This record gives sequence, C-alpha cells and structure tokens, in this order.
Amino acid sequence: MGKITAEYIWIDGQKPTPKLRSKTKILDHAVKSLGDIPEWGYDGSSTAQATGHFSDLLLRPVKYVPDPLHRENDILVLCEVLNPDTSVHWSNNRAHLRQVAEKFKDEEAWFGIEQEYTFFEGNKPLGWPDKGFPAPQGGYYCGVGNDEVFGREVVEAHADACLRAGLHIVGTNAEVMPGQWEFQIGALGPLDIADEIWLARWLLYRIGEEFGVAATLYPKPVKGDWNGAGAHTNFSTKKMRADGGMKYIEEAMKKLEKRHEDHIKVYGAHNEERLTGHHETAPIHSFRYGVSDRGASVRIPMLTQKEGKGYFEDRRPAANMDPYEVCAILMETVCG
Ligand code: ADP
Ligand code: MN
Ligand code: MN
Ligand code: MN
Repeated sequence: MGKITAEYIWIDGQKPTPKLRSKTKILDHAVKSLGDIPEWGYDGSSTAQATGHFSDLLLRPVKYVPDPLHRENDILVLCEVLNPDTSVHWSNNRAHLRQVAEKFKDEEAWFGIEQEYTFFEGNKPLGWPDKGFPAPQGGYYCGVGNDEVFGREVVEAHADACLRAGLHIVGTNAEVMPGQWEFQIGALGPLDIADEIWLARWLLYRIGEEFGVAATLYPKPVKGDWNGAGAHTNFSTKKMRADGGMKYIEEAMKKLEKRHEDHIKVYGAHNEERLTGHHETAPIHSFRYGVSDRGASVRIPMLTQKEGKGYFEDRRPAANMDPYEVCAILMETVCG
C-alpha cells in the first residue's frame, strides 16, 4: 500500500537526433515535492552516452507531473543527465538553457511550439494504401471523415493525457499530409515549454504503443509532393507584447537574419529535405520574414502587425529539433 511508480524520462546521446528513454522506479511513498524523488542511475553505454568501461550516468529529477496512464499518485519524472561527479553531461542541453533563461529572465520570453508529427503503421504513414499513394494533398488539413484523417483516436487520447498530466497543450489539428498531425503547447517560459514538449513527445510515443502506431518526428517522412513536419516556434518578449512592440520585433528580424546559419545548425537534422522553398517553407540557406507569409522563414502574424505588438513565428525548426537548443539560441540572438 502506498507504493507508486515513477517513470524516469531522459534524453539520450544518439546523433544526429537524440531520442527519449525511460525506466520505472517503484517508490514507497507518494511524492509531494521534487525533493522526495531520489536521483537514479543508468547504463550510459547503452544510450550512446558513455563507453562500456565507465558507463554509469546520473539521472537528476528536474520536473514531475501526474502520470496520466497509471494510478493516482503515479508520476512521470523528467531528468537531466549528469556525470558521476555531478558535472553536466555533454548531451544535456537543458543545462545550457537553464543558464540562458537565467541570464535573460528580465526579458520575460514566452514560447509557443507547434509540434508536427507523422503516424506510421509498419513502413507507411497511417491510412496510406498498401500500394501507390493516397489522393494528392488538398483535402486533409483540418479534415473530417474516415477517408480524410487517420489516427484521430490516438490524437485525442494524447491530448487527453497531456491535459491530465497538467501540460499546457492548447490545441491539435490534422495536417496537410494524410497521417500527419500537430499539437501546440504554450505560451510558456523557455524551460517550461521545452520540458513540456519533451514530456508531450514521450506521451505521444507511449500512447502510440497502445494503438499499434508509431509517431515519427522526421522532417520529411515522404519524399515528393508531400508536406514535411516542422516545429514552428512562436516567440515574444515583454517588450514585443507591450504597446509599440513592433519596433522590437523588427529589431529581432535583423538579428535573426545575421545568425541564420547558426540557427539552422540547431533546428533539426535532415531539415534540408524539408526547407525547400515549397510546401509552405522558405529555402534553407536564405532568410526572409513577412506578415502573414507562410513561405517565409519567419512569419509575423496578421494580428501582431495590426496591433503593432505581439509575437513572431519562426517557421524554420524541424519537427525533430531539440527545444532546449532552439529556445536557447532564440533568446541568445534576440535578447543578446
Ligand atoms: P498557426 O497559425 O501558425 O498554425 P497555432 O495556432 O498552431 O499557429 O500556434 C500558435 C502558437 O503561438 C500557440 O502555441 C500559442 O500559444 C503561441 N503564442 C500565442 N501568443 C504568443 C506570444 N505572445 N508569444 C509566444 N507564443 C505565443
Ligand atoms: Mn499550427
Ligand atoms: Mn502546422
Ligand atoms: Mn505555424
């Protein structure tokens, strides 16, 4: 009696795209604060984070939420990876974001991330025919009907789980390519948004197990005339949200243009397959911003233009980006 399960979740060292890992610990008591959750260890040589001879790594709990899939009091525990001497492990990008968030905390940066993803069943996107292709894109985005959208029961189970876990999910929609979907989280500060995106990704994969479908964040899951998957990152600072904020948004555009290539480096692997200049993207090696422009690198929403304050949408990040890295570079470039 009284025992609970704590699912420890962390990010591994796989390249070029790190992957989520987790394992379960039984605790004797319900948890009332982060301090009640013990640190733990694992075999880093099995996660591309250590060599076999010196393989123990440390899991330090940094956030916990109710586990929406198990019993009352069970929890999901997001962890940072540390070396045995408690120094920051090279694969731990959260530690850097912690520093950046602290440095620029007076800017009160908010992020809203639109996480796109694609369901696969076996080796084809969910709902696609065994041979050939579905009808061309056009009718699927925000569609309804058994011939239009595939996997809604999974999407709804995921949104429900996110809510029960207390994540700040604000919406979902079917995407342009059949089998492709999106959820949005935010707006939140940098550490919260990035932590919640990773937890929501974990829940998506985990719930997929129940339905026999796998979600992938690969930025261009089907070559050809099919939309890729991104993670549009909406950003604002206190100054941008206040009257006259447009001035600061325009300043940000100049700064972003100068550091375009540095941003692309941390906006997800294989993003060149997605950022082609077609399918609502801008070419990967050019920077352009525009009002209401979904073919730009950065879009300024119509309402932001109209009110002269608000936020901008960085459309460049790929679905498989690490939100710790994306939030950090956005703050460094825009606030620095
Ligand atoms: P789109 O029109 O590009 O599909 P969505 O509605 O999918 O946009 O997502 C918009 C995201 O922008 C949401 O996550 C929302 O929380 C976020 N957002 C709204 N206002 C702000 C703001 N001031 N700063 C940062 N993010 C914001
Ligand atoms: Mn969206
Ligand atoms: Mn979208
Ligand atoms: Mn968008």
